[in-house]
Amino acid sequence: MQDFQQIINTIHTDLKNEIDRGLVANYIPELSHIDAKNFGIHLKLISGESFSVGESHVPFSIQSISKVFALSKAFQLQGDALWKRMDVEPSGDPFNQLSLLELENGIPRNPFINSGAIVIADILVSQLENPKEDLIQFVRDLANDQTIDYNLEVAASEKATGFNNFAAANLLKSFRNLENDVDTVLDFYFHQCAIEMNCEQLTNAFYLFANHGTCLQNKQWLSASQIKRINAIMLTCGFYDEAGEFAFEVGLPGKSGVGGGIVALLPNNLVISTWSPGLNPRGNSKIGMQALEAFTTKTKLSIF
Ligand code: GLU
Repeated sequence: MQDFQQIINTIHTDLKNEIDRGLVANYIPELSHIDAKNFGIHLKLISGESFSVGESHVPFSIQSISKVFALSKAFQLQGDALWKRMDVEPSGDPFNQLSLLELENGIPRNPFINSGAIVIADILVSQLENPKEDLIQFVRDLANDQTIDYNLEVAASEKATGFNNFAAANLLKSFRNLENDVDTVLDFYFHQCAIEMNCEQLTNAFYLFANHGTCLQNKQWLSASQIKRINAIMLTCGFYDEAGEFAFEVGLPGKSGVGGGIVALLPNNLVISTWSPGLNPRGNSKIGMQALEAFTTKTKLSIF
């Protein structure tokens, strides 16, 4: 077996003093205080062995990574009926682009751009008995960690400044692709984005995507076919308008968030999470992407 601890240590040492770490997101005011020097990696093999380096136990705002949890819950509840309300094509546009939504009559390109994630939030608000409690419980169960929670300051901070998301939700409503009222759906969506997790918790929660739908506790949450589809959407749409670049550099399905987290996986093999809050111009963690590129190059472990 490869010496995974040694490999992630080397990657961490090589990148931890890099001067250009990208820019910490500041459009959500609460996120702008985070120190760009944080850098953690956590790796879990399908066998259950784990490896950590750096700030892998410091919680951060998972932001768009939460869209994978929300999609999974909605897919579990609704099955293929989901795809009547959104498409599964990469957008080639930033996550908050509105013009495409208007052009395509209120059918979002995919569940990971904000308009698609807002439709998923609408489905969960309709279907779950206690939407916020039920979603966080789902995430806790996947990660096998009951301490995971929302950061209420981050949720409030985004609510106060989320004008683009209010515009998207109103546009969806005007196209009759939103059942509930805009404020209720966005309150849920802003909370979902404000879930805090560390690299280890994220890696554990994503274990089922590398394991055909069965989580660490051996419970089957989604079918192997549903997991195949979610992984495909992660590969093609998981990195804003840089999904092609991520596939080219790293070669794994995954998802990033503007909090600087990235989680990626190789089916049947491993899950790996990185956190480095500075973002590149496309909104993906700059050092995280470099770390994952180095990981798949050094280990020769990618889907390609
Ligand atoms: N809550 C953020 C937003 O809707 C999520 C952005 C992201 O991580 O891509 O703007």
